[in-house]
Amino acid sequence: MKFVVTAGPTREPLDPVRYLSNRSSGKMGYAIAAAALEEHHAVTLISGPVVLAAPSGAETIRVTTGDEMFDAVAAQLDGCDIFVMCAAVCDYRPARYTPQKMKTQRLPFSLTLVPTRDILASLTSAQRSCFIVGFAAETQELEANAARKLREKNCDLLVANDVSRADVGMDSDDNELLIFFPNGERRKLPRAKKTELARALLKIILDAREKCLTKKS
Ligand code: C5P
Repeated sequence: MKFVVTAGPTREPLDPVRYLSNRSSGKMGYAIAAAALEEHHAVTLISGPVVLAAPSGAETIRVTTGDEMFDAVAAQLDGCDIFVMCAAVCDYRPARYTPQKMKTQRLPFSLTLVPTRDILASLTSAQRSCFIVGFAAETQELEANAARKLREKNCDLLVANDVSRADVGMDSDDNELLIFFPNGERRKLPRAKKTELARALLKIILDAREKCLTKKS
């Protein structure tokens, strides 16, 4: 099976030294890539800027901005069986990039931000034969927001995690996952190391894809 996994944050530059980003460490996405490799699947890992070493055996493509991640994902469409969109892509970027470092002024100022392209939505809106897993990082109303994202983004599976807690989620070695299926079913993977959760999640993804194929045939 061929997997494409996105991981880590993206960075949206304001000028040559400043950017907008988020606290994503990439650990969950890298653990999923490693779990798929352990099971002898082919893996392309598309990673935003993180400090993690590339898992050996994966084709790793490093990107910085959401636009670069969009192009890297689009280039993988042919021949991919399963996309796991774990990256914390910035939802907005500065409307204007200033090629010289902006001068510091001791005055309030406003930045105009524009939405980035939604990579996941671009995949699920196209005619497709691949299985697509989305992620949702939430700080409130986890269940309602995740269920809405599953519908709106038209994924085959949506994996939600609570990023308001210090003991799990962003930058932690641990996580706790709530998995949403299009038929309304839900499964909870209680708190564990991201490496363990990734193995359990991989099984769930492969199982759900199998059921999806059986239903279509
Ligand atoms: O940011 P949001 O909660 O909407 O992210 C949900 C899912 O959409 C995640 O799987 C994320 O990787 C994906 N996403 C994306 N492109 C964006 C924003 C989010 O692929 N610009």
